[in-house]
Amino acid sequence: MAKVSIVRCQDYDSSKVFEAVKRSVDLVGGMGEYVKPGMKVLIKPNLLSDRKPEDGVDTHPEVVRAIVKLVKASGGTVMIGDSPGGYGKNIDEIFESSGMKLVAEEEGAELVKFTNSRFVDNIPVARQIFEVDRIISVPKLKTHCVTVITAGIKNVFGAVTGLYKASCHSKAPKEEDLAKILAKVYSIVRPHLTILDGIVAMEGDGPSSGTLRKMDLVMASADAVAMDSCVARVVGLEPGDIRLITEAHSNGLGEMDLKKIEIVGDDIGSFVAKDFKLPQTAPLKILPRALLNSLAALVKFNPVINAALCARCNLCKVTCPVSCITIEERSCSIDYAKCVRCMCCHEVCPYRAIDIKRNFLAKVIWG
Ligand code: SF4
Ligand code: SF4
Repeated sequence: MAKVSIVRCQDYDSSKVFEAVKRSVDLVGGMGEYVKPGMKVLIKPNLLSDRKPEDGVDTHPEVVRAIVKLVKASGGTVMIGDSPGGYGKNIDEIFESSGMKLVAEEEGAELVKFTNSRFVDNIPVARQIFEVDRIISVPKLKTHCVTVITAGIKNVFGAVTGLYKASCHSKAPKEEDLAKILAKVYSIVRPHLTILDGIVAMEGDGPSSGTLRKMDLVMASADAVAMDSCVARVVGLEPGDIRLITEAHSNGLGEMDLKKIEIVGDDIGSFVAKDFKLPQTAPLKILPRALLNSLAALVKFNPVINAALCARCNLCKVTCPVSCITIEERSCSIDYAKCVRCMCCHEVCPYRAIDIKRNFLAKVIWG
């Protein structure tokens, strides 16, 4: 039976986070169950953008610090690595601003860049994934404009290198298509343990432009599908509402039936936030899927650049998989005839300068 632990933690005070992470891992067997002396362990946080820990975009460094300590106490050596989505991002700057560099220096871990790849089923995956003994995935609980939520399953997409991530978004801008690719990547990377930073989550238009929401929780599990199913529950959804969960489950990658998941630790019911704000693009809970699919072609969500907020950094322009963004000193625009609504531009903009605008029908249906 899949097991997921959930533990209350109300802030990022270092000692409180350590106790919460340790307890959550102890509840699913303890770090010694996963890491033996001499093992090489890769910690894969969610490092999306060059932002400070308090912005809530990246996995908080204190959660990673706690995991490094636990791994080292079990005799493992630690690497911390990720490959942020979007072109033009400097991973060294992200390591610095996210606090990972400081944690690595203070706790004795190695920072690694996912630059060299090994191809599996034509997907370029960071070579470190195949060179370590254990992978610990450390996602941040956030909303996502395409996948609705991003947590355990999606976090391993960061192990994919180079241009492939962006090409996925142009090939698969819809939730159901992207879910297939993400489930495939999860089947390749398959972390041994997933530990979720849900102390401060992001609701609304995540994963980078939403609003922060205290959820006060840490989760741990060897089964990220089971964990994401518990995440769905705490944000007021059913696991079956999330295509990524159903896709991973139907491929035999984990459990999504909450009756078949042993949830240990604090009472999951005490964490449920029924008013958790989903992205504007999330059509859930309101319409049956069949009806929704028939209306999908008429419902439009457009990214819109706010020129007054735009810093002309060009990150959205170089990230757009169909090259339909123009950034000029006097104006910024998007060619909607070409746009595939993947929302990558919205995800990568560090200045929250890209809004999502809904057409009339979307407003009527979604409220
Ligand atoms: S919209 Fe955002 S990402 Fe694009 S150029 Fe402006 S500031 Fe940069
Ligand atoms: S403009 Fe934005 S939403 Fe449209 S295709 Fe480009 S990156 Fe995707």
